[in-house]
Amino acid sequence: MARYTDAVCRLCRREGVKLYLKGDRCYSDKCAIDRRAYAPGQHGQGRKKLSEYGLQLREKQKARRVYGVLEKQFRGYYQEASRRKGITGENLLQILESRLDNVVYRLGFAASRAEARQLVRHGHFTVNGKRVDIPSYLTRVGDVIGIREKSLQSPRFKDLLEFAQNRTAPAWLERDLNTQTGRIVRIPARDEIDVPVAEQMIVELYSR
Ligand code: SF4
Repeated sequence: MARYTDAVCRLCRREGVKLYLKGDRCYSDKCAIDRRAYAPGQHGQGRKKLSEYGLQLREKQKARRVYGVLEKQFRGYYQEASRRKGITGENLLQILESRLDNVVYRLGFAASRAEARQLVRHGHFTVNGKRVDIPSYLTRVGDVIGIREKSLQSPRFKDLLEFAQNRTAPAWLERDLNTQTGRIVRIPARDEIDVPVAEQMIVELYSR
C-alpha cells in the first residue's frame, strides 16, 4: 500500500495541532508547531473561518495523518466501522488502533508510527509466533506481538528496547519487556485513544 512521503511537519501545521509524527523531535524545541504555529504555504496565515464541510474534512484528514493512512484505505476502514455494531466513529478509531504498526508504536517498540511501519515492513515483528510484515495487518484481542530473534541481536533493537523502558504501554495492551512481547488484552475504550480527533465529524462527512 502506498504511503505519504512528503514533509510531515507541515501536516501538523495544517491541522494546527501536534500529531506526533516524528518521534523524539516532537518533544523537543525543534517542533515546527512550536516555532511556526500557522498553516504552511503562502496563504497559511490568511483566512481561517471554515465551513461545516471544511471542519469535517479537517477532522478526517487529521485522523488519516495521525495513523498514516491514505484516502482509499481510510474509507475502507470507515465502511467496515459502519458495518460493525456500536458507534461508527468509535469503531473507526478502534480499527485504526488495531493496525499492527500502531500496536508496535503503542507498545513503545518504535518512536513514531512511521518508524513502526518501517520496522514491520522490514519483517522484524511476529504475531502469534509468525512473521508479519504488513503494517496494516489488523490485530485481534489475544494476539501476541513479538520481535524476531534475529532482530533482537541488532544494535537498533537494543536502542529501541532501551527507549521502550521509558514509555508506558496503554492499559489495553500487556507488555513484557523481559520477553520483548506485547499482548492485546482488549479493544481500547474511546477515552483510552488519545488522538485529538472528533470522530463523529468524520462520520458526518462520509454520510453526506
Ligand atoms: Fe508535528 Fe512532530 Fe513535526 Fe512537531 S516535530 S510539527 S509534532 S511531526
